[in-house]
Order: sequence, then C-alpha cells, then structure tokens
Amino acid sequence: MPNKEMLLIPGPTPVVDEIYDALSSETYAHTDPRFVKVFKNSLDLTKKLFNTDGEVFVIAGSGTLAMEIAIINTVAPGEKLLVISHGYFGDRFIPLAKSFGIQVETIQAEWGQHVRKELIEEKLAEGGFEAVTVTHVDTSTGIMANLDELVPVVKKSGALFILDGVCAAAAIEEDMQKTYGDPAYTIDVVLTGSQKAIGVPPGLAIVAFGSKALAAREAMPTVTGYYSDIKNWLPIMNDPGKYYATPPVNMIYAFNKGMEIVMAEGLSKRYQRHTAIGRAMRAGLTVYGMKPLASEEIAAPTLSCILYPEGVIDAEFRARLAGKGMVIAGALASLSGKAFRIGHMGNTTEKMFVKALELVGETLKEMGHEANIEKAVDEFTKVYHTR
Ligand code: PMP
Repeated sequence: MPNKEMLLIPGPTPVVDEIYDALSSETYAHTDPRFVKVFKNSLDLTKKLFNTDGEVFVIAGSGTLAMEIAIINTVAPGEKLLVISHGYFGDRFIPLAKSFGIQVETIQAEWGQHVRKELIEEKLAEGGFEAVTVTHVDTSTGIMANLDELVPVVKKSGALFILDGVCAAAAIEEDMQKTYGDPAYTIDVVLTGSQKAIGVPPGLAIVAFGSKALAAREAMPTVTGYYSDIKNWLPIMNDPGKYYATPPVNMIYAFNKGMEIVMAEGLSKRYQRHTAIGRAMRAGLTVYGMKPLASEEIAAPTLSCILYPEGVIDAEFRARLAGKGMVIAGALASLSGKAFRIGHMGNTTEKMFVKALELVGETLKEMGHEANIEKAVDEFTKVYHTR
C-alpha cells in the first residue's frame, strides 16, 4: 500500500499489510467451514489474551458497543453501578448506564490524576453496588489505572470489576485469572475494540466475561437489549458455525490475523515493548520542552497527552505534521488547544517513533521554536533500550 501515513492518533492505529491482506480475503458464507475455522481460532486467541475462565464475544460494532454489552449484562435497571473515571472515556459509562435506567454513582479524578483509593472505599462501604467500571487507560488523559490497588478495593465489596481495556488490551496485561492478593480478587469483564493495540481497523466490539460475570447474566431474567444480550451470542461463541446475526466475515479474517501477530510477538514481549515505547516517547518529547500531562508513574504505555511549550499553536502544529504524513490528535475538553495526544500502540516500530520525533522537531523549528532533534532522538533511543 503506497503513501502510508503514520497514524499516531489514539486509535485507529497503523494497520500492517498482512492484516490488510487478510481483510481483502474472499468473502465466504458465514457458515462456510473455512470461515468458521478462522472465527474459532480468533476466539481461542482472544481467550488466551484475556486468560478468561468464561467466554469471549467478538461482535460487529465499536468499543462503545463493548461497553454497553458489559454493562447491560451485569447490572439491571434500578441497580447500582459505580463509575471510577480518569477522564472523558471513564465518564462515558455515566450516560450509557443511565440510559438503561441504572443508578449511577461516580468518582471522578481531576484530569491527569488518579482517583483516591479512600474515596472509592468510602463509596463502596455504602453498599449495594452490582459493578464498578474502571477505564484501564483513559484516552483523554493518558492516565493508566492502578489495577493492583483498584481490583482488591472493588472486589472486597462484592461488586463485579468491569475493565474498559479499549486503549490497553494487547499492550498492557489484562489477565482475568490473575489474583490481586486474594483468590477472589480478579477482573470479571474486560472489553475492547479492534482498532487500538490489536492493530486491526475499527469495526469489532470485543468483550471477555469471566465465570462470575456470566453467572450474573444468568441470574437476570431479561436484559435491556437484544443484539447486546450475551445470551443470544453464547451459542455462536461456543460454535461459530451457528447463526444469530451475520458476523462481519472480512473483519474476522483481519482480526484473526491481528491476534496471530499479537501472539507471535508474545504477550509479555508486547507488553514490555509498549512500556518501553511509552517511556521513550515521553522522554524524547520532553527534550523539546513538552510536558506529559501524567506523571511517569501513572502514565500509559499506549498513549500520551502532551502539553505544548509556550506559544505553539495546536491547529497549526498538527496540520503541519499531517502535511508530512504524521497524524496526531488534539486534546479534549479543557485541554483542547493546550495539548495533543499521541498514540504509541499496536503494530508500531522503534523506527516509526524516531521518525515521529524528527518530524515533531522539524515542525517546531518551522514554527520558530527551538528543537534539538539529535538530543531528542538520543534520549528516546537510550530510554527505549533501557529495560
Ligand atoms: N473507551 C476508551 C478508553 C476509548 O479510548 C474509546 C475510544 N477512543 C472508547 C471507549 C469508545 O470506543 P469506540 O470509539 O470504538 O466506540
């Protein structure tokens, strides 16, 4: 594919040729054994990714559908949900759950900070919460939630732990059978979309339910959805040759290839690579006088929200970069104009980010600012290779 752009927004992420090739496979019947085999393989690999003792659901849709599936199959109208939010996408659970008549309580962090554990403990002590949502990496702020702290606090209360992994899955560990200090302290639901760290085009909602979350659905007589009711999908996920609603055949081919690439790299290697890239990118950008919103201890391996140095005009900066084939995103809400967001996840390479740093440096210079490109690249390389 000629003239590929460096798509370094928070997702979709760059799609490698093998995945495009898979996407353009011949569209077989969705019940054709040749397709069913590929679908089954992609589900098996997804189960491995999340190490769930339950079931995974891979369904046409986006990350928001995955959020909806997670909520309506675990919390009934009138029941209580606690939303722990580190930004814009954490907040998305609030209107989503309210639209189904769920009682929502919220604990929101100041943008760039973590929610304080004591506040969560106090809130959960009120009792009656069916589930708690946590966004692993909030794409608006580049803050990574601390699962070591949050899983025990939530699970102690008896609530289900729902993890939005849209900006994390396949880049940061999300092992659903990992215990956080007690055998009962595990993650119950993880959800994501195809377009972020898995490196596949947008189009798939991916949700993993652990056995406790499946039991929660089983205990609900009905749910407020039809397409989103996992009970309708369970037979298909067990045997993808069965029909419920036509699967997006070509997206499943692409997803299967994406998951094969993830597994061929190896999960722990992929996680380490992302951690290293995140640190190195922030170190390199800091040389230009830019400042990550998140402090390094809570900054995400997948995406960074970076505050501009004095005087850099956001729209001009991003437009100039786009002209050079590098696409980054603006910041959201109150940070709009003051910061940009750069994704560093998926099937990306060290070379790509060296190039990105060079382009950022060149652009700053064109705009009349100082930029020591050599130093930024050196810093990046040093940090990237220190593991
Ligand atoms: N959660 C997070 C953390 C996200 O980053 C996004 C998308 N940026 C979503 C949910 C929603 O996903 P989608 O846009 O695919 O519906």
